[in-house]
Amino acid sequence: MSILSLHNISKRYGAIQALSGVSFEVPPGSVFGILGPNGSGKTTLLGIVTDVLKADEGTYSLFDAPPAGRLRRQIGTLLETPNFYHYLTACQNLQVAAAIKQKPEQDISRVLEIAGLTARQHSRFKTYSLGMKQRLAIASALLGDPGVLILDEPTNGLDPAGIAEVRELVLRLAETGKTIILASHLLDEVEKVCSHVAILQKGKLLLSGPVNEVLAREDYVELSGPDN
Ligand code: ATP
Repeated sequence: MSILSLHNISKRYGAIQALSGVSFEVPPGSVFGILGPNGSGKTTLLGIVTDVLKADEGTYSLFDAPPAGRLRRQIGTLLETPNFYHYLTACQNLQVAAAIKQKPEQDISRVLEIAGLTARQHSRFKTYSLGMKQRLAIASALLGDPGVLILDEPTNGLDPAGIAEVRELVLRLAETGKTIILASHLLDEVEKVCSHVAILQKGKLLLSGPVNEVLAREDYVELSGPDN
Protein backbone atom coordinates (compact mmCIF):
# COMPACT_ATOMS: atom_id res chain seq x y z
CA MET A 1 0.00 0.00 0.00
CA SER A 2 1.30 3.51 -0.72
CA ILE A 3 -0.07 6.83 0.47
CA LEU A 4 0.94 8.67 -2.68
CA SER A 5 2.31 7.21 -5.86
CA LEU A 6 3.56 9.41 -8.73
CA HIS A 7 4.04 8.10 -12.26
CA ASN A 8 5.99 10.22 -14.73
CA ILE A 9 4.67 13.60 -13.64
CA SER A 10 5.69 16.53 -15.86
CA LYS A 11 4.73 20.19 -15.68
CA ARG A 12 5.79 23.15 -17.76
CA TYR A 13 5.20 26.89 -17.27
CA GLY A 14 5.70 28.37 -20.75
CA ALA A 15 9.38 27.81 -21.53
CA ILE A 16 10.20 26.53 -18.02
CA GLN A 17 10.13 22.78 -17.52
CA ALA A 18 9.30 22.71 -13.78
CA LEU A 19 8.98 18.89 -13.52
CA SER A 20 10.12 16.17 -15.93
CA GLY A 21 8.92 12.57 -15.59
CA VAL A 22 8.95 12.38 -11.80
CA SER A 23 7.98 9.03 -10.23
CA PHE A 24 8.19 7.86 -6.62
CA GLU A 25 6.09 6.30 -3.87
CA VAL A 26 5.38 7.49 -0.33
CA PRO A 27 5.04 4.58 2.12
CA PRO A 28 2.49 4.74 4.96
CA GLY A 29 3.84 6.04 8.27
CA SER A 30 6.85 7.70 6.67
CA VAL A 31 8.09 11.25 7.09
CA PHE A 32 8.81 11.79 3.44
CA GLY A 33 11.08 14.68 2.50
CA ILE A 34 11.02 16.27 -0.94
CA LEU A 35 14.47 17.79 -0.99
CA GLY A 36 15.84 20.22 -3.55
CA PRO A 37 17.21 23.73 -3.97
CA ASN A 38 14.98 26.72 -4.78
CA GLY A 39 13.35 26.28 -8.16
CA SER A 40 13.78 22.49 -8.27
CA GLY A 41 10.02 21.92 -8.50
CA LYS A 42 9.02 21.04 -4.92
CA THR A 43 6.10 23.48 -4.67
CA THR A 44 4.89 22.55 -8.14
CA LEU A 45 4.88 18.89 -7.15
CA LEU A 46 2.92 19.57 -3.95
CA GLY A 47 0.53 21.78 -5.95
CA ILE A 48 -0.20 18.90 -8.32
CA VAL A 49 -0.84 16.28 -5.64
CA THR A 50 -3.13 18.68 -3.74
CA ASP A 51 -5.08 19.50 -6.92
CA VAL A 52 -4.07 23.18 -6.99
CA LEU A 53 -2.23 22.58 -10.29
CA LYS A 54 -2.73 20.12 -13.15
CA ALA A 55 0.16 18.01 -14.43
CA ASP A 56 0.79 18.18 -18.18
CA GLU A 57 1.70 14.52 -18.23
CA GLY A 58 1.69 11.60 -15.85
CA THR A 59 -0.68 10.34 -13.18
CA TYR A 60 -0.71 9.88 -9.44
CA SER A 61 -2.75 7.87 -6.98
CA LEU A 62 -3.72 8.50 -3.36
CA PHE A 63 -4.13 5.49 -1.07
CA ASP A 64 -3.71 3.24 -4.15
CA ALA A 65 -6.76 4.78 -5.84
CA PRO A 66 -7.36 7.55 -8.39
CA PRO A 67 -7.42 10.90 -6.54
CA ALA A 68 -10.95 11.80 -5.46
CA GLY A 69 -12.51 14.30 -3.05
CA ARG A 70 -13.25 11.58 -0.52
CA LEU A 71 -9.55 10.65 -0.40
CA ARG A 72 -8.38 14.28 -0.32
CA ARG A 73 -10.34 14.80 2.90
CA GLN A 74 -7.87 12.43 4.55
CA ILE A 75 -5.02 14.84 3.79
CA GLY A 76 -4.24 18.00 5.79
CA THR A 77 -2.19 20.66 4.02
CA LEU A 78 -0.01 23.61 4.93
CA LEU A 79 1.11 25.05 1.61
CA GLU A 80 1.25 28.73 2.46
CA THR A 81 1.05 30.83 5.62
CA PRO A 82 -2.58 30.87 6.78
CA ASN A 83 -4.25 34.20 7.42
CA PHE A 84 -4.77 34.13 11.16
CA TYR A 85 -6.38 37.14 12.88
CA HIS A 86 -3.87 38.94 15.09
CA TYR A 87 -6.43 40.15 17.65
CA LEU A 88 -8.16 36.78 18.05
CA THR A 89 -6.86 34.08 20.37
CA ALA A 90 -5.38 30.84 19.02
CA CYS A 91 -8.57 29.05 19.99
CA GLN A 92 -10.78 31.63 18.23
CA ASN A 93 -8.59 31.47 15.14
CA LEU A 94 -9.06 27.71 15.00
CA GLN A 95 -12.83 28.15 15.43
CA VAL A 96 -12.78 30.36 12.34
CA ALA A 97 -10.55 27.86 10.47
CA ALA A 98 -12.83 24.94 11.46
CA ALA A 99 -15.88 26.84 10.19
CA ILE A 100 -14.19 27.74 6.87
CA LYS A 101 -12.86 24.22 6.33
CA GLN A 102 -16.14 22.68 7.54
CA LYS A 103 -14.27 20.60 10.12
CA PRO A 104 -15.73 19.61 13.52
CA GLU A 105 -15.23 22.21 16.28
CA GLN A 106 -14.67 19.46 18.85
CA ASP A 107 -11.29 18.84 17.20
CA ILE A 108 -9.98 22.22 18.39
CA SER A 109 -8.87 21.34 21.91
CA ARG A 110 -7.33 18.09 20.59
CA VAL A 111 -5.21 19.81 17.92
CA LEU A 112 -4.15 22.56 20.33
CA GLU A 113 -2.94 19.87 22.69
CA ILE A 114 -1.06 18.00 19.94
CA ALA A 115 0.64 21.27 18.93
CA GLY A 116 1.57 21.96 22.57
CA LEU A 117 -0.48 25.16 22.67
CA THR A 118 -3.14 24.33 25.26
CA ALA A 119 -1.62 26.57 27.96
CA ARG A 120 -1.58 29.56 25.58
CA GLN A 121 -4.81 28.84 23.70
CA HIS A 122 -6.52 31.96 25.05
CA SER A 123 -3.62 34.29 24.19
CA ARG A 124 -3.98 36.53 21.19
CA PHE A 125 -2.24 35.34 18.05
CA LYS A 126 -0.18 38.55 17.90
CA THR A 127 1.54 37.58 21.19
CA TYR A 128 2.73 34.26 19.75
CA SER A 129 6.37 33.52 18.88
CA LEU A 130 7.19 32.51 15.29
CA GLY A 131 7.38 28.85 16.32
CA MET A 132 4.00 29.02 18.09
CA LYS A 133 2.42 30.68 15.03
CA GLN A 134 3.70 27.89 12.81
CA ARG A 135 2.58 25.22 15.29
CA LEU A 136 -0.87 26.82 15.19
CA ALA A 137 -0.78 26.61 11.39
CA ILE A 138 0.03 22.90 11.66
CA ALA A 139 -2.75 22.51 14.25
CA SER A 140 -5.14 24.04 11.71
CA ALA A 141 -3.98 21.51 9.09
CA LEU A 142 -4.76 18.76 11.64
CA LEU A 143 -8.45 19.74 11.96
CA GLY A 144 -10.55 16.79 10.81
CA ASP A 145 -7.84 14.35 11.94
CA PRO A 146 -6.26 13.62 8.54
CA GLY A 147 -3.97 10.59 8.38
CA VAL A 148 -1.61 12.43 6.03
CA LEU A 149 -0.10 15.91 6.30
CA ILE A 150 1.52 17.81 3.43
CA LEU A 151 3.76 20.68 4.54
CA ASP A 152 5.63 23.02 2.17
CA GLU A 153 8.89 24.21 3.78
CA PRO A 154 7.36 24.28 7.30
CA THR A 155 10.45 25.77 8.99
CA ASN A 156 11.08 28.52 6.42
CA GLY A 157 11.43 31.97 7.95
CA LEU A 158 11.49 30.72 11.55
CA ASP A 159 14.09 31.53 14.22
CA PRO A 160 16.21 28.64 15.61
CA ALA A 161 13.80 28.03 18.51
CA GLY A 162 10.84 27.92 16.13
CA ILE A 163 12.66 25.55 13.77
CA ALA A 164 13.35 23.16 16.67
CA GLU A 165 9.71 23.34 17.86
CA VAL A 166 8.29 22.59 14.44
CA ARG A 167 10.70 19.71 13.78
CA GLU A 168 9.81 18.25 17.19
CA LEU A 169 6.11 18.51 16.38
CA VAL A 170 6.62 16.75 13.04
CA LEU A 171 8.42 13.90 14.80
CA ARG A 172 5.70 13.66 17.45
CA LEU A 173 3.01 13.50 14.76
CA ALA A 174 4.94 10.75 12.98
CA GLU A 175 5.06 8.78 16.24
CA THR A 176 1.26 8.86 16.33
CA GLY A 177 1.22 7.11 12.95
CA LYS A 178 0.60 10.03 10.61
CA THR A 179 2.31 10.08 7.26
CA ILE A 180 3.99 13.43 6.64
CA ILE A 181 5.19 14.73 3.30
CA LEU A 182 7.34 17.81 3.59
CA ALA A 183 9.27 19.92 1.13
CA SER A 184 12.61 21.29 2.25
CA HIS A 185 15.74 22.80 0.73
CA LEU A 186 17.75 21.79 3.82
CA LEU A 187 19.62 18.50 3.82
CA ASP A 188 20.15 18.88 7.54
CA GLU A 189 16.38 19.08 8.09
CA VAL A 190 15.73 15.97 6.03
CA GLU A 191 18.42 14.07 7.93
CA LYS A 192 16.90 15.15 11.26
CA VAL A 193 13.21 14.48 10.66
CA CYS A 194 12.66 12.33 7.57
CA SER A 195 12.62 8.56 7.18
CA HIS A 196 12.42 8.75 3.36
CA VAL A 197 13.45 11.28 0.74
CA ALA A 198 13.02 12.14 -2.92
CA ILE A 199 15.71 14.48 -4.23
CA LEU A 200 14.75 16.88 -7.01
CA GLN A 201 17.13 18.88 -9.13
CA LYS A 202 15.90 21.13 -11.95
CA GLY A 203 12.58 19.27 -12.00
CA LYS A 204 14.09 15.81 -12.29
CA LEU A 205 14.13 13.08 -9.66
CA LEU A 206 17.72 12.23 -8.79
CA LEU A 207 17.22 9.60 -6.10
CA SER A 208 14.50 8.38 -3.75
CA GLY A 209 14.17 5.89 -0.92
CA PRO A 210 14.94 5.54 2.79
CA VAL A 211 17.08 8.49 3.96
CA ASN A 212 19.91 6.36 5.35
CA GLU A 213 20.18 4.42 2.07
CA VAL A 214 19.92 7.43 -0.25
CA LEU A 215 22.39 9.60 1.63
CA ALA A 216 24.90 6.75 1.80
CA ARG A 217 24.86 6.15 -1.96
CA GLU A 218 27.97 6.98 -3.86
CA ASP A 219 26.09 8.84 -6.57
CA TYR A 220 24.44 11.01 -3.91
CA VAL A 221 27.81 11.82 -2.35
CA GLU A 222 29.00 12.90 -5.80
CA LEU A 223 25.88 15.00 -6.36
CA SER A 224 26.19 16.81 -3.06
CA GLY A 225 29.81 17.73 -3.73
CA PRO A 226 31.10 21.32 -3.91
CA ASP A 227 29.61 21.97 -7.37
CA ASN A 228 26.04 21.23 -6.28
P1 ATP B 1 11.01 27.43 -4.13
O1 ATP B 1 11.51 26.84 -2.86
O2 ATP B 1 11.81 28.63 -4.57
O3 ATP B 1 9.52 27.66 -4.16
P2 ATP B 1 10.61 24.99 -5.59
O4 ATP B 1 11.59 23.89 -5.51
O5 ATP B 1 9.37 24.88 -4.77
O6 ATP B 1 11.34 26.34 -5.27
P3 ATP B 1 8.90 25.62 -7.81
O7 ATP B 1 8.35 26.80 -7.08
O8 ATP B 1 8.02 24.45 -8.01
O9 ATP B 1 10.26 25.14 -7.12
O10 ATP B 1 9.43 26.14 -9.21
C1 ATP B 1 9.97 25.29 -10.21
C2 ATP B 1 10.30 26.14 -11.44
O11 ATP B 1 9.09 26.62 -12.02
C3 ATP B 1 11.14 27.39 -11.12
O12 ATP B 1 12.00 27.61 -12.21
C4 ATP B 1 10.11 28.49 -11.01
O13 ATP B 1 10.67 29.73 -11.36
C5 ATP B 1 9.07 28.05 -12.03
N1 ATP B 1 7.70 28.47 -11.69
C6 ATP B 1 7.01 28.14 -10.57
N2 ATP B 1 5.77 28.67 -10.60
C7 ATP B 1 5.67 29.35 -11.76
C8 ATP B 1 4.64 30.11 -12.39
N3 ATP B 1 3.43 30.26 -11.81
N4 ATP B 1 4.89 30.68 -13.60
C9 ATP B 1 6.11 30.51 -14.19
N5 ATP B 1 7.12 29.80 -13.67
C10 ATP B 1 6.92 29.22 -12.47
